[in-house]
Amino acid sequence: MRFDIVTIFPAMIEQPLAAGIVGRAIGRRLLDVKVRDLRDFTTDRHRVVDDVPYGGGPGMVLKAEPIFRALDAIVSDRGSAPRVILTSPQGRRFTHDDARRLSEYEHLVVVCGRYEGVDDRVRARVDEELSIGDYVLTGGELPALVILDAVARFVPGVVGDEQSVVDDSFNRGLLDFPQYTRPAEVATRTSDEDVLKVPDVLLSGNHGEIRRWRKREALSRTLDRRPDLLAGATLDEEEQAILKELQDERD
Ligand code: SAH
Repeated sequence: MRFDIVTIFPAMIEQPLAAGIVGRAIGRRLLDVKVRDLRDFTTDRHRVVDDVPYGGGPGMVLKAEPIFRALDAIVSDRGSAPRVILTSPQGRRFTHDDARRLSEYEHLVVVCGRYEGVDDRVRARVDEELSIGDYVLTGGELPALVILDAVARFVPGVVGDEQSVVDDSFNRGLLDFPQYTRPAEVATRTSDEDVLKVPDVLLSGNHGEIRRWRKREALSRTLDRRPDLLAGATLDEEEQAILKELQDERD
């Protein structure tokens, strides 16, 4: 899958992409990411990408033309028509379902705003405007990384074990079950006698019971923390029965 990210701070994108699962996927060519420095698409000697807002007021606005030129260059370089995303706190809230949906495109472009944002005319070439949450950041680089990372997890082969993507929070409208790793007992503090144990069932080797316990924990967490998710959840019969039990217990 191809990604192009348009930014005035390429280093903010390049460094994080080198690490972890995304870095490995780029190395294996499952992801082909190009970071485009917006300044390369200016035509003046000072490589100016921003200007004062029409109508006055504080701050600067990213100019439309360099962004349009960057999009033209991406289309001709890649030879494919991309889906263009503008990062914006005014966009629709980016979700798990968007990540999965966007992973079906062969080519995405993410435009990172800065300052007071981008000239509104840029929207003429934008397919969707996405926000990563109700807060304002200093730029679209972190949102672009968030979107790329979440989308990449749905690209076949990127996450080694596909089952882990299936189990993850939100996938079926449920939060993930709690995870533990060795050792089986840990001291809460170095000086402490109190130890925290792993739930016995996970040490039992009884796979049927472990599976049922995990379902119950996932349902119980979702019920406590994000009951809103349950309305859209797809539950099997066993899960429906467990959910009913949990709801009765809480009543
Ligand atoms: N004045 C603008 C905010 C500009 S913030 C407004 O109030 O709408 C500068 C840039 O950071 C934005 O253009 C956008 O690209 C990015 N950005 C900031 N917060 C964001 C968020 N929550 N989600 C996605 N992008 C965001």
